[in-house]
Amino acid sequence: MFGLIGHLTSLEHAQSVARELGYPEYADQGLEFWCSAPPQIVDRIKVTSATGQQIEGLYVESCFLPEMLAGNKIKTAIRKILNAMALAQKNDVDITALGGFSSIIFENFNLSQMSSVRNIQLEFNRFTTGNTHTAYIICRQIEEASRKFGIDLAKATVTVCGATGDIGSAVCRWLDARTNIKELLLVARNRERLQELQAQLGRGKVLEIDEALPQSDIIVWVASMAKGMAIDPATLKHPCILIDGGYPKNMSTLVQEEGIHVIDGGIVEHSLDIDWKIMKIVNMTAPARQLFACFAESMLLEFEGWHTNFSWGRNQISIENMDKIGEVSIKHGFRPLIN
Ligand code: NDP
Repeated sequence: MFGLIGHLTSLEHAQSVARELGYPEYADQGLEFWCSAPPQIVDRIKVTSATGQQIEGLYVESCFLPEMLAGNKIKTAIRKILNAMALAQKNDVDITALGGFSSIIFENFNLSQMSSVRNIQLEFNRFTTGNTHTAYIICRQIEEASRKFGIDLAKATVTVCGATGDIGSAVCRWLDARTNIKELLLVARNRERLQELQAQLGRGKVLEIDEALPQSDIIVWVASMAKGMAIDPATLKHPCILIDGGYPKNMSTLVQEEGIHVIDGGIVEHSLDIDWKIMKIVNMTAPARQLFACFAESMLLEFEGWHTNFSWGRNQISIENMDKIGEVSIKHGFRPLIN
């Protein structure tokens, strides 16, 4: 069985979901309520592969909200993720994806040193960040969107915002090895880490976000921002492709302008309907078929019987593993979403 650990994008989102699901008493509650809420199994899932194989899984809502980080409720955030992992393991889930901020909290606050949760000893090989599949899907989106919108990669300047992150660094390595892009711009806050990445790649220009955006033909957003930033489309090149892989989204602005193409980054579409309710809650356009690539990774590991932490640690995603997960992604009927 596979598992998915997820969370909602904001307190406002959590309140509206509670209202929609018929829990008005939860809908009026503030952050303190969500801080004390335990994880819940809120969905039981059946997925059929394009090969005909069927698997079953669980969705665990961790009740973590990004406001907990912004409000410095770090201990609460840690407790949310550890409790959700323990709940998945207690339910005999073989492989569980740590969606969105779950894996970021796991890494940033060293949760590997906190493997005892009450009477449960967490077995980390039962979990995956799902980031290898996410990076693979974003790279396929770069390829397909540039073809669709007539941007020649050989002449293109590509910015990766969140370049030093787990997904961002994998995308940079892939852009370097597998494409002939003209220029790679590296954006994040920590200069030292950016310079290390630049040295590893042997290329790339380190720039501030405001300098990078107006020069870019393609912008990949994979920064771990608790709240999205506003973009002024007038400052962008036309045409320009924006691939927003953040969860919550890195861009708070709804850009709808001729020549600006916004793609939901790291999202896959399955070729068959999935029997579940949960993607309606995160506002997917086609909730029966569309999902986060990191969730799809745990499904792929279950389909293949690879019960191992395929994506783990930080900045260790190899192009070989992106190819490997990409091959089974196609085999089981997933494709990158190009809106
Ligand atoms: P990491 O924590 O590994 O990396 C985050 C990166 O963002 C770092 O380079 C960090 O560098 C940078 N960053 C953080 N804040 C800012 C900022 N304000 N401005 C510029 N750069 C910033 O994260 P992941 O690679 O694991 O995840 C990245 C994003 O992808 C997250 O939003 C996550 O929720 C999302 N995600 C989406 C998935 C999907 O299936 N679609 C799956 C998994 C994750 P620095 O700190 O130096 O700024």
